[in-house]
Amino acid sequence: MNLNSIPAFQDNYIWVLSEDDGRCLIVDPGEAAPILAALTENKWHPEAILLTHHHNDHVGGVKELTQKYPGLVVYGPEETQDKGATQIVKEGDVVDVLGCEFSVIFTPGHTAGHICYFSDPYLFSGDTLFSGGCGRLFEGTASHMYQSLKKLSALPDHTLVCCAHEYTLANMKFSVSILPDDSDLNDYFMEVKELRAKNQKTLPAILKNERKINLFLRTDDADFIDKLSKETNLQQPEQRFAWLRSKKDNF
Ligand code: ZN
Ligand code: FE
Repeated sequence: MNLNSIPAFQDNYIWVLSEDDGRCLIVDPGEAAPILAALTENKWHPEAILLTHHHNDHVGGVKELTQKYPGLVVYGPEETQDKGATQIVKEGDVVDVLGCEFSVIFTPGHTAGHICYFSDPYLFSGDTLFSGGCGRLFEGTASHMYQSLKKLSALPDHTLVCCAHEYTLANMKFSVSILPDDSDLNDYFMEVKELRAKNQKTLPAILKNERKINLFLRTDDADFIDKLSKETNLQQPEQRFAWLRSKKDNF
């Protein structure tokens, strides 16, 4: 299996898993043009599309792709029913594509029905878990997102986090502003700065590293709690998470 990411819009990635024989699956095709070009160039034959949520930058290319490839099966959560999904899936379902079994993980927070797909080692995390960050809370609460990230964080160390946006640099800039003395955060910030200066991707991220450098996965850490205690007096982990999320919204 080969993992590929096709850039779309300003900072989206459309992930493609392909077999050597050209069969492939596409994750969150927000627009059709870049993915159609990549399919032709690589002689790929798409068998399925996986959708994580209903936002346009994730589903905008579905209709054109299914017109061009009528056999395509489009998996997605209920909220994508009118965005071209042909197979509605939910937590606990297993999607069988290219001989791989993808478990569906319900991860509300960014939207009310957001799901992620995991087939060891690939995690398609959509707009839930980003490298160094997490999605904005458009439809869910901080507590939903906190619980969703907890589920993802429990996946194996070697999990490859394939998220839908190249937001890593901005996320690390924010994280370092919160814990300026944290060497893990600073090291990764430097690394990501260098990659982006050369216009290189920072993804996929490795979950083991995310647990060290993603503050949104570290809201139970002593350093973070200590930092917070100087500003507010929040006792519950969900409240600490909400504080961090709103800081990022206003950063
Ligand atoms: Zn979104
Ligand atoms: Fe998005």
